[in-house]
Amino acid sequence: MKTDIISIQKKLGVKADGIIGPQTLAAIKSELGIKSRPHWPSQAEVRSGKSMFGKAGDENALRSILPPYPLLYEGKEVKSIRVHRLIARHVQEALQEALAHYGHAELCRLGLNLYGGSYNYRSTSGGGALSMHAWGIALDFSPAANSYKLGAPRASLSHPDCQAWWEIWEQHGAVSLGRARNYDWMHLQFATL
Ligand SMILES: [Zn+2]
Repeated sequence: MKTDIISIQKKLGVKADGIIGPQTLAAIKSELGIKSRPHWPSQAEVRSGKSMFGKAGDENALRSILPPYPLLYEGKEVKSIRVHRLIARHVQEALQEALAHYGHAELCRLGLNLYGGSYNYRSTSGGGALSMHAWGIALDFSPAANSYKLGAPRASLSHPDCQAWWEIWEQHGAVSLGRARNYDWMHLQFATL
């Protein structure tokens, strides 16, 4: 059995240690074309400071991403966006997938090139607890047309033409507060509610 696993690992090009760990499993899934939606911790777990995302406000855990299409923050193009290193690949891929799906002109028409920020050591807009932004695991888009209390259909990101945008993020395990709770439609986060 162990020699079988080692020969499979050699074929997959992962470390041949005879143990089916996360790397081998990921390589097998990718070989079989199985895309599994990642599972992220809950907000409560994140706030405990004991989740995979560590403590709030840890800037060493952040990575910069070059957005695949120009993002404007308060009217100015941003060079990079900073998010937690464990979600960086997902953010990069989701933005690329959104660009491939909509094209640049349509992203601009929908306001999906208007960036409202990611990492920010602050409390939630509702007050009280720390926001998921304080861990760099939340991002905001089109903030002016999707203010905190605005619900569907007035929030622009609640419109049917944004359905694919949300599905792309959800494939990466992200949660939309708008889709889940019908407020704060600008906001998405890599933590469950
Ligand atoms: Zn937000």
